[in-house]
This record gives sequence, C-alpha cells and structure tokens, in this order.
Amino acid sequence: METRWLHTTSESFPALVEASAKTCVIPMGCVEKHGLHLPLGTDIIHSSHIAYEASKLETVCIFPDFVFGDVPGGPAMPAGSISVPVEMEMALLEQLCDQIARNGFEKIIIYNGHGGNKPWLSTFLRNLMNKKRDYVCMVADIKLQAPHKMAEYLEANGTGSIPELSPEDERLLLDYHEMGMKIGHGGMGETSYLMAIAPDSVKMDRLGIVSGLSTGEADYLKDAGIQIMNGGWDVNFPNALSGHDPIGCNERIGRAAVRMEAERLANAIKVVKEDKNLLRWHANFQKGW
Ligand SMILES: [Zn+2]
Repeated sequence: METRWLHTTSESFPALVEASAKTCVIPMGCVEKHGLHLPLGTDIIHSSHIAYEASKLETVCIFPDFVFGDVPGGPAMPAGSISVPVEMEMALLEQLCDQIARNGFEKIIIYNGHGGNKPWLSTFLRNLMNKKRDYVCMVADIKLQAPHKMAEYLEANGTGSIPELSPEDERLLLDYHEMGMKIGHGGMGETSYLMAIAPDSVKMDRLGIVSGLSTGEADYLKDAGIQIMNGGWDVNFPNALSGHDPIGCNERIGRAAVRMEAERLANAIKVVKEDKNLLRWHANFQKGW
C-alpha cells in the first residue's frame, strides 16, 4: 500500500487512514552544515527516508517532510544554513497537526532527525496539552545505529547476525565501539545513513581536514552548573562536526544501519497504533474545556 500522503489520491486516502490506525508520521529535520563531508540536508534526508522505510514494515501514513528546524541564525552561520524563528515553526507545526487531524488522524508522531529541535518540540507538546484538541501528538527521536548499537547487536547475536556486513565491517564496528568512538553530529551514525541513502552527497575525501573533537572551551561553565545556549555546543564544535572521523564507513554499513533503525521505528509506530491509553489520558486531561 502507498503510505506517502503526497503520493495518495483523495479517493484512496480514507483507506490509508484506516490501515494506519489513524496514525500519521511527520519526518522532521533541518538545513545546516554537517562538517565538510555531509550535505546540508542530512537530517531531513535520513529522517524522511527511514520513516518511509519503516512505513513499509508497519503501515502508517507518512506526511510531507517538515524540512526546517531550529538552527542558529546570524551572519556568522555557515553557507547554506537556513534559520527560521522557532515561534513560526511551532505555529506552522500546530496548523499542520490540525490539518492532519481534520483528515481523520488521531495520533501524530514527529520523527525528529535534528538534535536542535528537541527543546522546542518538548515545549510544543506541552503547549498542545493546554489547548482543546481531539488528537495526540508525540515525538520519536532518530537513533544512530552505527557503530555502537550495531556492535552491541553483533556482540549479543554473533558474527553474521547483520547479513549486510562483511567480516571487515564487523571488525571495524567492534573496534570503533571498543574505543568509544564519538558520533554526535556528522559522525559515523549519520555518515552511514547518508552513504546508504544518498551516496553521491557524501564526500569522504573531505574527512581529516577539520576536527570533530570538542575544544572544551565552554566546559568550565557546564562544570560549574551553568547552562548556556545549546550547552556550549557551538563553541566547543566550531566545525559543525562532532565525533571521530568515520574512516572506513561504507554503503554496506549504511544499508544495515538504515534497516535496523527502520525496524526500531516500525516497532515504535506499532506500539502507538495499538495503544489504547494515549487518547483516553488526553481526553481526561482536557475535561472541562
Ligand atoms: Zn544531523
């Protein structure tokens, strides 16, 4: 069954709503620099693709991409980044959720691929609770599978348990896991996804030119219990890259990582589709409106 909203006809739409158990997923990302080797659209490219892959495993309607996320603005921002005021994003998301509900859905999952969206999405959910709505909204943040989750899976299930991988790939993942590879932003987790989804957009020959390791410049404030914008991320990681260089990452690892994350998301979607409590809790909370 076609699960993408934009690819569905008006006539077949009600059948999609029903097959989705009135559940709809919004892929969300942002447009920002990801080091020198990954494209500006990394976060929406992977969240959109993985959401669609998950919908093939567990039928759910996939809403058009919510491309723009919370990215710092200002003239110092790297070329190509797009910054939209958070107030505008919250207002737009609310309107879109209302439209999704008007079309028959009762449960909306935002599949978020950008860490910078977490704070405002948390506020968005809280704000929505204080308004009269007959639908519930929730967030599922993307999880990076490579290398740590994949290595843990290999350790638990043995060699050959991730069929896409060669013995060398298994060794690489286990080695990176053992060394505690950092993968925060543009690291192996995201690089592997992009290598599988949009290999031509990944410039592996641009690795090793700038560092993805923290300068630690803002850590003294954090150590003193002071919170500054973005936890000091922008100061500590001036290259919009956070993590060790994903040397040796390849499309096989990427395909396995995408599959594993799609399976994880499909399970989350299944839990939401079958859930009988969310709407009841919501209705109870809203009593008196
Ligand atoms: Zn990213």
